[in-house]
Parts: sequence; structure tokens; C-alpha cells
Amino acid sequence: MLSIVNTIALNGTEGTVVEAQVDLSAGIPHWDMVGMLGTSIKESKERITVAIKNSGIKLVGKKISVNLAPAEIRKEGSSFDLAIAVGILINLGIIKKECINSAVFIGEISYSGKINSVKGVLPMCLAAQKNGFKRVYIPNSNINEARLVNNLEIVSVSSLKDLIQKINSKIPIEKNISQIERYAKVEYDVDFAEIYGQEKAKRALEIVAAGNHNCLLIGPPGVGKTMIAKRLITIFPKLDYDEIIEISKTNSILGLTKENEIINKRPFIEVNPNITLASFIGGGRNPMPGAITLANLGILFMDEFAEFDSKKLEMLRNILDLHAIKLDRVHASVQYPCNFVLMAAMNPCPCGYFGSHDKKCTCSETKIKRYLSKLSGPIVDRIDIQLNISNVEYSEIYKNKKIERSEDIRKRVEMARKVQMLRFAKENINTNSEMNTSQIKKYCMLDKECKSFLEKIYVKYKLNIRTYNNILKIARTIADLRNNERIDVSCIAEAIQYKVDNKFYKKEV
Ligand SMILES: [Zn+2]
Repeated sequence: MLSIVNTIALNGTEGTVVEAQVDLSAGIPHWDMVGMLGTSIKESKERITVAIKNSGIKLVGKKISVNLAPAEIRKEGSSFDLAIAVGILINLGIIKKECINSAVFIGEISYSGKINSVKGVLPMCLAAQKNGFKRVYIPNSNINEARLVNNLEIVSVSSLKDLIQKINSKIPIEKNISQIERYAKVEYDVDFAEIYGQEKAKRALEIVAAGNHNCLLIGPPGVGKTMIAKRLITIFPKLDYDEIIEISKTNSILGLTKENEIINKRPFIEVNPNITLASFIGGGRNPMPGAITLANLGILFMDEFAEFDSKKLEMLRNILDLHAIKLDRVHASVQYPCNFVLMAAMNPCPCGYFGSHDKKCTCSETKIKRYLSKLSGPIVDRIDIQLNISNVEYSEIYKNKKIERSEDIRKRVEMARKVQMLRFAKENINTNSEMNTSQIKKYCMLDKECKSFLEKIYVKYKLNIRTYNNILKIARTIADLRNNERIDVSCIAEAIQYKVDNKFYKKEV
């Protein structure tokens, strides 16, 4: 008899419905499995046979044939075990065929009959829901991520015996309603209030967060570049449902979704120049996401930016334009999202003290030029805000000023984001940093006074068109933080500081 049980195969974070077609006939005991299978699936025969036996079910004198269809999709991993086992149990008359209508089965079976957790349960459940299935059977330990999916009947099972009992009991199951909103609060263990002084840097980061602009911090060692970068994430807007799902999907396929823990923070991913290309962009035989995808919807912090090799910087340039990465594999290619804000940090020169009041720079001019050469041109063009960080004066530490907490700044950022959402409602972008040339023309209209002011700057600093556009984008964000439709001269004057008031890049921009 042939029985058909549904399950899901993943390609990256996208799921496709797969049918486990299972046929049992009398004959010499034998297993046959086809359907473009990876090594781990071939091992499932042993797991399922032993698990069925250890669950007290007899499986003797049976010829078992399994086809995982469609055949053109490569199947990897152990998550198909459960569907194949259910197919056998239907054939044996232990589970009734009609009880599995509109259901999908996901899980790995151990020799003892226990159902083990698998990676990727969240995207699999989303694919099941998208394809019109009503119910999913998943391992107990994956319940947390499955519960993020709305309008799906979720049944978690601990063992084959538990599964059989739950399927046959026919107890009605309510559709899941995600409790995600309850968890979507923002609590970080660091806060902007912990940064002494650095008023200009704080202001710049508010603009970075409001307009989603990339940023480069330049300063000598020990001035707190990392400390400042780490606090940037705390002023970004709260995650919405779709964003939580998107971040959780990546964590799910990497097996990082922890029990009883819902992702409610944007990621902050720190990388240094020694990172391998595979860890940076993702890779492997069955390509897994790298740091750039883990940073999706959050911040990628690249410390010692000038020390990264040119291959990685070249890749980064493409990633910043496309917000996605395509990784090729033998049978198909996988695409992962990587829409992050780049926060780069570097010393001003190889010794670190060029332009510093505290220590003398020992680098030759050629050495500094070589050090900065990697950053000229295309990569710097994609970083809207460049900021010098210097040491905090002692007096700043005890200045009796009102220090704002991240929460207060975040409110302004969220307001500016709302303004942008409304403005770009008919465009396919959400923030100012994403504007293309024609959108800049449309949304950054300048009056006569602004035009002539910017013209003077353009000539004085020998700007190029990219820098000019960057300035307009930043000015747009500054106006949005004030909830002003009009960009005025003061917006432009402030925006310019983040491009041309830079000791090192004056000649470059
Ligand atoms: Zn130096």
C-alpha cells in the first residue's frame, strides 16, 4: 500500500513541500530510498527501523520503498525522518490515513524512538502555512520558534509513541496565535547614558540610526570607538513582527534559537580582519549564513576597517548595494538577506596617533597614504557618515549635564523613521540611506539659499557627485529628526561636517 506524508525541504531560509511516498509490501526485508538524497538522509533507514522496533512495533518481513518527491530538489538533513516513519506506521495500520490530512511532519528520530530537534523549524512552519497546511507536528524542543507562526495548529511530540497517541486521539487543537508582541520590548545591557562627553559623536549616531546610514569612526586607540559602536544598536527602532520573524529564520537554520527565548533585539555582529571569507559572507558545502547575514536588520561592526583585505572590502561594496548575498552550491544557489548598517572603525594611521594631541605619530607620509588607499573610492562612497573621535577631556567626565538615555533618543529616531515610512510609502525603500539619484532629486529639494551654499562647499572641497548625494541624504535625515519637510541651510551645514570636516579625508572626498 502506498501512503503519502508531507514534509518540508529547505533551501536557505525558503521551504518547499516534499512528499514522503512510502510503500510497504511483503517480501524479503529491504529498504529502498530515492529522491536526490544527501548522506544524512540515507542514514535515516537505520534510525527509523530501530526506533520503530524500540517503540514496541513489529516491522518484520517487509519490503520498504521510499521516494522523496519532487526529485529535482536535493534533500539534506534528518528532518524527513518523522514523515517517513509516519508513512510506515500508516501502512502498518497504526496511524489512520485520514488523521494526517493537511498536516506536515518535521523531526529527527533517535534509536530509542525519541524525537530530536532539527534546525530550520521556523522557516519550515512558515512554508507549511504558506502552502495551505493546517497543522504541523514538530519536535518538542522546537516549540518555541514554531509558536512565532500565526494561524497554524502546532503539535509538539517527544517520541514516536507520543506522536501515535496524539494523532489517534483526535483532540481538537487550537490555531496558534503568536505572543510575539508581548516579548517585543527593548532591553539592552548597555546604554547611551554611559558615554561621557562625545556630544558630536552621539548626535551623529542619532542621525545614523534615524536614516539607517553607514558610518565610519576614526580615532586613536583607546578613545572608545568600540564602546560607542556597541551602544548604537540601543537607539535603533524596536523590531516589528516581520523583522523578528526574519531574524529568527536565520537563527533557526543555524540552530541558534534557544528554548524560551524570543529574539527582541536587533543583532550587533562584530568582526575583525582575521575573519575567514566563509565566516564573513557565509559558505560551506550546504551554504550556511555568515556574519553579514547574522547582522541583517542590525549592525555589522568592522573594527580595524583599514586592515581588512581588499577581497572582503570588494565583496562588502556589492553587499552594501544589493542587501543580499547569493552563495552557490552544487545543485542550486542560496540567497541570504544582509540588510545591515555598517559601522566601521579604524585608527587614523598605522601607529594610531596621526592628528592626536596626546601622542606623536611616527608614521611616514607614504605609510599613511598606503594605509588609507584601500578606503578611497567606492567603499568610502557608500559610507554616508565619517566621524573623528578624540579623547574625552577630563572636564567632560564630571560636567553636570543632563545625560540622555538610549530610550529617549530612540523615541526621536522612531519618529523620524515614521516620517520616512510615510514619504516612501509608494517607493520600494524605507529609509533615507536607500534613496537612489532620482529619489534624492525628488525628496531633497533645495531652495535658492541652500543651493548656493552647497555650491560653495562643492567647489571649496572639490566634492564629487557621490559625496554631494551623501550630504543631501544626511541633510534629509536631519530635517526628518526635526519633523521638517523642508531642508534648510542649517541641515546642510551639519551634514557637511560628517563628510568634509575630516582631517584625513579632505583630499580624498
Ligand atoms: Zn601614525
